Amino acid sequence: MVDFQAPKGVSEYVPPRGALFAEALEAFTASARRACYGRLEQAVFEDTQLFVRGVGESSDVVTKEMYTFEDRGGRSITLRPEFTAGLLRCVLEHGLNNGPLPVKVWTAGPVFRYERPQSGRYRQFYQFDLEALGTEDPAIDAETIAVAWDAYAALGLRRLRLLLNSLGDRECRPVYRKALQEYLRGLDLDSETRQRIELNPLRVLDDKRPEVRAQLTGAPVMTDYLCAACAAHHDRVRDLLSGLSIPWSDEPRLVRGLDYYNRTTYEFDHPLLGAQSGIGGGGRYDGLSEDIGGPPLPSIGFAVGLDRIVLAIEAERAGVPVSHAYSAQVFGVPLGSGAQQDMLTLVTALRRAGIRADMAFGHRGLKGAMKAADRSGASYAVLIGDHERSAGLVRIRNLENGEQHDVPADAAAAWLTERLPAEGDTVR
Ligand code: AMP
Repeated sequence: MVDFQAPKGVSEYVPPRGALFAEALEAFTASARRACYGRLEQAVFEDTQLFVRGVGESSDVVTKEMYTFEDRGGRSITLRPEFTAGLLRCVLEHGLNNGPLPVKVWTAGPVFRYERPQSGRYRQFYQFDLEALGTEDPAIDAETIAVAWDAYAALGLRRLRLLLNSLGDRECRPVYRKALQEYLRGLDLDSETRQRIELNPLRVLDDKRPEVRAQLTGAPVMTDYLCAACAAHHDRVRDLLSGLSIPWSDEPRLVRGLDYYNRTTYEFDHPLLGAQSGIGGGGRYDGLSEDIGGPPLPSIGFAVGLDRIVLAIEAERAGVPVSHAYSAQVFGVPLGSGAQQDMLTLVTALRRAGIRADMAFGHRGLKGAMKAADRSGASYAVLIGDHERSAGLVRIRNLENGEQHDVPADAAAAWLTERLPAEGDTVR
C-alpha cells in the first residue's frame, strides 16, 4: 500500500469502468450538440458570496455543504457546489446576454459538496449541466427536458421517471408560502424544523423522516395556488411534453435543494438506485440574474449526476459487458529494438486511419507480448522480428482463427484497414 488514499467521498473512474463514465458524458454532449447548445467552460472556484446570494442563504448546500476557504490574498473562495450560479455569472461577465437570446450552453465537470458519503452520494462528484438563458417561453422548458430525456434514452435507460412541478413566481409563491407556514406551525415538529418553517418552509416538504412525512399528507400544495400566468405556463409545458411523447408525472411536493428555482421544476428519478435515486434535475430560475446584480434574464436549466447515471447503466444493463470502445483492434508485437520504430510507425498509420491500435512496450519477449495481444481484445496481432525485417515483411495473425499471413511491410496498414471497420475519426 502507498501512504495516501483519495480524500473521503471522492468519486473516481479507472478503466474499464471509465468507459461507462465517458459514454454517459458523451450521450449528453451529443444530445446537447444536436439541439445547438454551445460549450462553456467556467471557473471551478468562485467568490463565496456568489453562492450565498445565488443558491440561497437558507439552503443546506450553503449552510452545511460548501468547501469554503480563504486564499492567500485573504479572499473567501468556494469550490463550486453546483453550476448554475457560476454559469450565469460567466454568461453575464462575457456579455452573452447582449447577443441573440436565448443563450444556449452546456458544461460539465466536478462539483463539490461536503455531504455524508454513501453509494451514489459523494463529496466530489460529476455533473453535466445545460442552461437556456433569456426567454420565458415554456417551449424552452420542454426543449431542455427533451435533450436530457433523449440522452438517457441513448444510454438505454428505460426505467427513469420524470417528476414535474411548478413552484410559482414572485406573485403567487408568497401567498402559498404563508398558507404552508400556517399549516406547518400546527404540527408536532422539533425545534430545528420549526426554525425552517420560518426561513424556508418549502424545504420542510422535502423532509425524509417518516414521522414528519406522516404529518405532511394534508399540507397545501403549490399547484393549487398558482396565479393564472404560472398555471398557463405549467399547462403549456405539460402539453408540449405530451406532444413529444415524454411521459411525466405531477409531483406537487417536489421542491429542490437550491433556493433559486421558480415555475417549472423537475427531477429524473431511477427506481433501481435506492435512496439516492435522483439522476438529474432542473428548473427555471427567472430571478437569479437580478439576485446577483444582473439584468432580468429569465432562464431554465438542468444538471444530471454522471456518477448516478453510471450506476443506473450498470443496474439496467446487468451482465452486459462494458463497451469495447477503448479496446484495441490491432496489437503490435515488436521483437528487438530494431523492430520498435517500424511497429510504432505502423500503429500510428493505423490510428490515423481510424483503427484502434496498441502495441507491446518494454521488450517483453514473444510469449509475454502475445499474452498481452490476447488480453487486448484485438482481432489481429502484427509481429515484426529480425526475420521479418530482413525480408521486408510483417506477420499478421488473425487472433480469432489463428490464420497467419506474411504481408509486405509497406502494404500492412492497407491490408488491415481493408479488413477492419474504422470506428474513430480519421486524421488527414
Ligand atoms: P442538484 O445540483 O442538487 O440539483 O443535483 C443534480 C443531480 O446531481 C442530482 O440529480 C444527482 O444526480 C446529482 N447529485 C447531487 N448531489 C450529489 C452527490 N453528493 N453525489 C453524487 N451525485 C449527486
